[in-house]
Amino acid sequence: MLKVAFSPIFLYQVPEKHRFPMQKYRLIPERLVEEGTLGECNFFTPRKLSEEEILTTHTQAYWEKLKNQTLSRKEARAIGFEMTLKLVERGRYIAHATYECALYAKQYGVSLNVAGGTHHSFADHGEGFCVFNDVCIASNLLLLRGEAKRILIVDLDVHQGNGNASIMANEPRVFVFSMHGEKNYPFRKPPSDLDIAVPNDTGDDIYLTLLKQTLPKLIAEHKPDLIFYQSAVDVLATDKLGKLSLTVEGCRQRDEFVLTQARDNKIPIAIVMGGGYSEDIEQVVEAHCNTFRVAKQLFFD
Ligand SMILES: [Zn+2]
Repeated sequence: MLKVAFSPIFLYQVPEKHRFPMQKYRLIPERLVEEGTLGECNFFTPRKLSEEEILTTHTQAYWEKLKNQTLSRKEARAIGFEMTLKLVERGRYIAHATYECALYAKQYGVSLNVAGGTHHSFADHGEGFCVFNDVCIASNLLLLRGEAKRILIVDLDVHQGNGNASIMANEPRVFVFSMHGEKNYPFRKPPSDLDIAVPNDTGDDIYLTLLKQTLPKLIAEHKPDLIFYQSAVDVLATDKLGKLSLTVEGCRQRDEFVLTQARDNKIPIAIVMGGGYSEDIEQVVEAHCNTFRVAKQLFFD
């Protein structure tokens, strides 16, 4: 059974100026249901992260500021959303959803979160639209509870996962692989276990070749028993923030390659969405939907 995390709290009233990047969280599941890729039975509503779970990864001081809404104006601006308790609540559901997806992946091979991939969140602060670091929290919970021993994070968002790199810097059981745009945010990139910085305007062929040269080796060397895959679509040529030049088909082939690697090596894979900011929302939705379609095809057809 393909389990997909979705919580209606995603759709809380976000300020008008942020509506565009948020819309996709509604449009993607709508399209997948409409076309028959997913049915009601595929969706689950995640539980909310507890304080104790938050503190496996984030500092007490940061959590207090979020809980009491006492972030300074500068700290809130770095996150980029208007800071509300609702936003904090939303982050708690999304992060726990990523953890639950990992458990479902262990059961069924693959699972997806319609959200997540908030890889710019650090232990003690958030930035780049990221409040909590869902993949790092999920990883820490899995390790702590003996539900995973060696985790590989495959982060193919066009932006480097600076939060993941920082939080997991001293955690040898989690290997952080980030392939991202060289000349893009974040401009200070703390080192991941492996960073591949791709020049502006790189297209499908070079991008896919790099990935195919790298990922099988990482899996062979690190021997993960779980993979988190950040399948962001801000690598598309049409992306406002991306600066790379992938096509929707190139993006689909990327997903297919990563998921095939996981399937053929029998490693559970939990997928989070990450960025995607094309002016043309159609491309964003289509490219994200492809990840779900490929997952269903490869694991369940
Ligand atoms: Zn991004």
